[in-house]
Amino acid sequence: KLSIKNSINKMKTDTLSSVDWAGTTYQWSEDVTRVLKDVYKIDSFRPKQLAAINSTLSGQHAIVVMPTGAGKSLCYQLPALVKPGLTVVVSPLISLMEDQIRSLTNRNIPAKLMSNTSTKEETSEALNTLKDKNTKIKLLYVTPERFAKSKRFMSNLQACYAAGRLQRIAIDEVHCCSQWGHDFRPDYKYLGILTQMFPNTPLLGLTATATASVLTDVQKILNIPGCLVIKSTFNRPNLFYKILEKPTSQEECLTILEKLLKGRYRGESGIIYTNSIKDAEDIAGGLRKRGLKVGCYHANLEAAVRSQVHTKWHEKYYQAIVATIAFGMGIDKPDVRFVIHHTISKSMENYYQESGRAGRDGLRAECVTLYRMQDIFKVSTMVFSSVGNLEHLYGMVKYCLNGSLCRRLIIAEHFDENWGSADCNKMCDVCSTSNTSEKNINVRLYCKTLGSIIENAEKQDVKLTAQKLLDAWFLKGPVNLRHKGKEPTISRGLGEDIIAFLLLGSYLVEDFHYTAYSTISYIKNGPNMDAVQDDSFELTMPVRKYTSFDLQTPPPNDYKPIVALEQVDESVDDSKSKKRKHDDNSKSKSK
Ligand code: ADP
Ligand code: MG
Ligand code: ZN
Repeated sequence: KLSIKNSINKMKTDTLSSVDWAGTTYQWSEDVTRVLKDVYKIDSFRPKQLAAINSTLSGQHAIVVMPTGAGKSLCYQLPALVKPGLTVVVSPLISLMEDQIRSLTNRNIPAKLMSNTSTKEETSEALNTLKDKNTKIKLLYVTPERFAKSKRFMSNLQACYAAGRLQRIAIDEVHCCSQWGHDFRPDYKYLGILTQMFPNTPLLGLTATATASVLTDVQKILNIPGCLVIKSTFNRPNLFYKILEKPTSQEECLTILEKLLKGRYRGESGIIYTNSIKDAEDIAGGLRKRGLKVGCYHANLEAAVRSQVHTKWHEKYYQAIVATIAFGMGIDKPDVRFVIHHTISKSMENYYQESGRAGRDGLRAECVTLYRMQDIFKVSTMVFSSVGNLEHLYGMVKYCLNGSLCRRLIIAEHFDENWGSADCNKMCDVCSTSNTSEKNINVRLYCKTLGSIIENAEKQDVKLTAQKLLDAWFLKGPVNLRHKGKEPTISRGLGEDIIAFLLLGSYLVEDFHYTAYSTISYIKNGPNMDAVQDDSFELTMPVRKYTSFDLQTPPPNDYKPIVALEQVDESVDDSKSKKRKHDDNSKSKSK
């Protein structure tokens, strides 16, 4: 039954997306152009904006998927001005709503917001706009819990609908509906009633999350299965992607960050993401001791402090904010020139969102990730308990371990898109280095050795962390655990890469244990370990090098935007076959 339903939805999606929504001969087309020029002072639409606007003005339910900064707000703001009536905008954060109201007010567009910090007067004013047929207000911003928790709001909204004035309901950050997304908000699930209560009002969801499973889930929750999905490409051509070797000690990390902030990124604004509150505080403190002006941002700070930090960064008093991922949604600083990850993100999706806060002005910006094997376990021990999380983390590790493919290609794979080095324009560390001659090594024997070290330890009732495993392999640490053969002739760094590579291929697996204070990841032999016993089996791993990176000198400022290639296919249903041309060479060649 489910598959019939799914294929009906897919047919729906296919039919809808075969329409060219970007036409200019609709009855409202002239008004659309006029508002764009007169109110927004913008000459042309960005990819897919017009399609989104036309589809929603046609009364279609639609979900717009565009990267952060691509201009999703225009897709519901502009239609609101073209037709009579009121657009209700659901938004998850008060700060996001305030930003929107500010920018609308600057353009003389009458808009209001209603949140739980609004005063009584503000709230009744907002509620009245729902009933008042003569109101000038075109957009009303509300938080999702209004739909569940405020009877007065709902009855006024019904009145608005009954009077034929509920033009559209826009749901910003619509991925918040789905538990599979990275930002689940329980209140969003109340929005499922909207299509029943207001059957003639089109919904317009907007998000930067493009994962097919999340989008399908969102359609289900909102009761709009198979609705039109309008998706623009996720390539951010102005972002330079770079992996940097992470030193073992915090002091050395601080030195790298200091050099970057005083050298390469002198006078520029940026974000440094860390994976814990403690790291955020330590690194912010360390950098301040070295004379840098940086703010610290995490969930344990009071709202007032957080907002102060944000402001000081906006005003360039702080050069950088050292933050946990609590510093996220709603950052609309256009000239963020660098986003440094002190620790890897927990998934490619997260990495894309976090690094994507750089370069929203379209000028060159850099996304630098400090990587070392040890950090895999720093993250895995935090996320392993939910299904799928480890797989997501390994996607991020794969991005870091890669030394031969364009980094964009790996990001594209995540979005089911198909970009190659032509879309990169030498804007990643792999494409910009001339000497990328890839060396492959057969790691079968290394794998076998590691397997035997683990077995030997198990016999003695000892569990090995990756670090201990590495030690035993390189004949360090307790003698009884050490490998009986010769010390490997490879570098320890390559040894670390091999262990990570074997984890990605399930030759090794992580085994989590709780202690009173923390969770520890031990390494066990995985389901694929048996395969390496066969002498003829080749387990090929590409060896990567860290490319050089000048920490002291500002990057070249000769960046010229290339025209981003547009996505052709708009359906959510991931008919992967046609988009996976690059797959053959991007999957690790393990079998
Ligand atoms: P998103 O919600 O997709 O992250 P926003 O709607 O906040 O992005 O828009 C980001 C910026 O892009 C805003 O400053 C907006 O004014 C600008 N913008 C949107 N559309 C266009 C356009 N067609 N041309 C130029 N600038 C645009
Ligand atoms: Mg937005
Ligand atoms: Zn590249």
